[in-house]
Amino acid sequence: MIELSPVPDAAPGRVDVVRAEAAARDLLEALGADIRDEGLRDTPRRVAAAYAELLTPEPFDMTTFPNDEGYDELVVVRDIPFNSLCMHHLLPFHGVATVAYIPGDRIIGLSKLARVVELFARDLQVQERLTTQVAAWLEERLRPKGVGVVLEAEHMCMSVRGVQKPGARTVTSALRGVVREDARTRSEFLALAEGGRNG
Ligand code: ZN
Repeated sequence: MIELSPVPDAAPGRVDVVRAEAAARDLLEALGADIRDEGLRDTPRRVAAAYAELLTPEPFDMTTFPNDEGYDELVVVRDIPFNSLCMHHLLPFHGVATVAYIPGDRIIGLSKLARVVELFARDLQVQERLTTQVAAWLEERLRPKGVGVVLEAEHMCMSVRGVQKPGARTVTSALRGVVREDARTRSEFLALAEGGRNG
């Protein structure tokens, strides 16, 4: 068992909550709110705390194990819920992820696949980048034979403003190694990911 670096490529804990609270107060005033209103008194503090939480992933150890059984089929975790923040509007987007890999020399605890999604979701994001970051991180840290990541999400910036299409869902995928190159593996993975979203 080796402990790989718990330090993610993202930068957790970078939120300056004091400045965020002051900025939230300014924003409320700019929006025409009367910040002396009883109901708004603690809002700047709550806003800063909420953003800090949404932008700070919990660190974790990516423990891996030797693949003693020589398992070489897909390992798939479906329906991993995630929340993230759209970097264009600072509005949330949320949905489910399917993360899969085909082991090489090492395997990883299944719960860690969900943690990797959270690691990158807690950032100012676009869905395409979030998808590729999860795939690239697993490829780099685990050296598997292949990786597949599918994200399906509803973006509040689409649901509640602009085109206002509630329920519209955006699907992105990132395939690597044999999951990308081998037609059978690719379609097996995509069928499993589809089943997760619709099942
Ligand atoms: Zn947006």
